[in-house]
Amino acid sequence: MIITKKKKLEDILQAIGGGRGVFIVGCGECSATSKTGGEAEVLSMQEALQKHGFNVTGYVVPDAPCFASKVRVALAKNKKALDAADSILVLACGLGAQSVKDNLVAEKAVHIGCDTVSIGQVDKDGMFLERCSACGECLLELTDMICPVTRCAKGLLNGPCGGQDKGKCETDRTKDCAWVLIYKSLKKKDKLHLLKQIKTPKAFSKMLKPRYVNPAAG
Ligand code: SF4
Ligand code: SF4
Repeated sequence: MIITKKKKLEDILQAIGGGRGVFIVGCGECSATSKTGGEAEVLSMQEALQKHGFNVTGYVVPDAPCFASKVRVALAKNKKALDAADSILVLACGLGAQSVKDNLVAEKAVHIGCDTVSIGQVDKDGMFLERCSACGECLLELTDMICPVTRCAKGLLNGPCGGQDKGKCETDRTKDCAWVLIYKSLKKKDKLHLLKQIKTPKAFSKMLKPRYVNPAAG
């Protein structure tokens, strides 16, 4: 999922500026899990805006505002409240906010209330762990499902570097060295031969942005 954190209220208020009518769009998927844009956070933002003299004309929490089809339906159902607003505040990740802007029928100022942090997983304790950097050429088959691009502080494709100490990373002793984790995991599965496979530098052509992917093309 996409991990987000809340922007400071004062920064949001400053961005919205003078327009008093605000419509809020949340996100029922990742931002709800991150507790940045679910219904509870949207209602709390509504209260905060009202305390500062804004008129919240309405709100909606689509399942996933990053889906054009879902956000279009959600916005269409709230046309009256949207028309009454000077601007829209999106409590979702950067792609959710861009999707809202791209799918507006009438031109309207759009503001973002969250910072997008990473692509991560939620562990059993509810911690958000950064696990993928969307590099476009997945190496997990060679590293037993531990991503060195994301979990090694230097993003080394062939590790470990000389700095690991007792399995900890030299850049932060509280964190495990990703390459020691990879070594241990491959060893358990009798797959250490995979470490001998030198991984060549990544093809940056696969990371040229913006990327367009047609899932139907495979
Ligand atoms: S190698 Fe890492 S960053 Fe690249 S796609 Fe796989 S998990 Fe994501
Ligand atoms: S100690 Fe391990 S995780 Fe840290 S930079 Fe070196 S190889 Fe990467």
